[in-house]
Amino acid sequence: MTARILSAKPCVEKVKEDLKKRCDSLKARGCHPAMSVVLVGDNPASLSYIRNKKKLCEDIGAKFTLHQLLPGISPDDFLNLVHALNKDPATHGIIIQLPVTDHLAVLDLPQLVIPSKDIDGFHGENTRKLFEGSTDMKLLLPCTPKGCVNLLKYYGYEVEGKNIIIVGRSLIVGKPLSLLLTNLNATVTLTHSKTKNLRELTKKADIVVAAIGKGHYLDRSYFEPSRNTVVIDVGMNSMKGKLVGDVNTDDVKDVVSAVSPVPGGVGPMTVLSLIENLITAAEKQLKG
Ligand code: NDP
Repeated sequence: MTARILSAKPCVEKVKEDLKKRCDSLKARGCHPAMSVVLVGDNPASLSYIRNKKKLCEDIGAKFTLHQLLPGISPDDFLNLVHALNKDPATHGIIIQLPVTDHLAVLDLPQLVIPSKDIDGFHGENTRKLFEGSTDMKLLLPCTPKGCVNLLKYYGYEVEGKNIIIVGRSLIVGKPLSLLLTNLNATVTLTHSKTKNLRELTKKADIVVAAIGKGHYLDRSYFEPSRNTVVIDVGMNSMKGKLVGDVNTDDVKDVVSAVSPVPGGVGPMTVLSLIENLITAAEKQLKG
């Protein structure tokens, strides 16, 4: 068995065409979809993520503006900018790029962008819909969970009734993904650093999602070949100057049936979800 590689590329190309059409249709009705990113400082990883967002935004014909602020900006000035963008009718989606400097991290960041422009899907009003059981993929859902589900769907993997193990319970990946998959009728186990006998769980899984933040953490010892497990690797870690996932793909490729690559898997799907959220937000704002 050699694992199928679940590359994001064909899915991104397909969805991009659809997003271009939706963007053109909005422009024809006088609404030019526009995203604003607020960045504090010049973190190189953040700048690289922002470049990817800008490229896809511009590829589909939407506007992109970066507001790069000095690391020492006062909380008041920072808040004033976010409030001004919230009020600006020509801005449809706003992102506060994380991490911000420590003196701003004390602000309630997920609640600062108004729900209708919260294209990251972090605002309580947007995440509440996940708690309520929604399966509507057109909501402003958190981008990485949405990207994972859309990648599985694109490659024809049904999640209903499946035994899914998520490793990692962060607010931006593991927790919202566990709700989304539960709503889609999967049986989900959310695991973390205090989970006992993780291998016993992953060896019985139909699907494993790795969102740990430790390069090559999951090796072949976590999988049982006869299970034909599908692995979604969310991790983005630097190892000897190379970007690697949480899964050691070379080591697992003959014991799992499919695995998403890093780079080229969940990362581009996350950016795609963000741009999809931008277009959805603009459509909703135009309707009023
Ligand atoms: P966090 O550091 O916020 O969370 C990591 C989670 O992994 C925690 O819940 C932690 O458990 C758990 N964990 C850590 N060590 C172990 C272990 N040995 N066994 C089991 N669980 C463990 O990370 P994020 O969720 O923000 O990110 C995870 C990874 O995904 C990172 O590599 C990040 O760069 C990447 N990422 C990629 C994105 C993409 O678009 N592709 C988007 C977002 C993140 P505990 O809660 O007990 O501490």
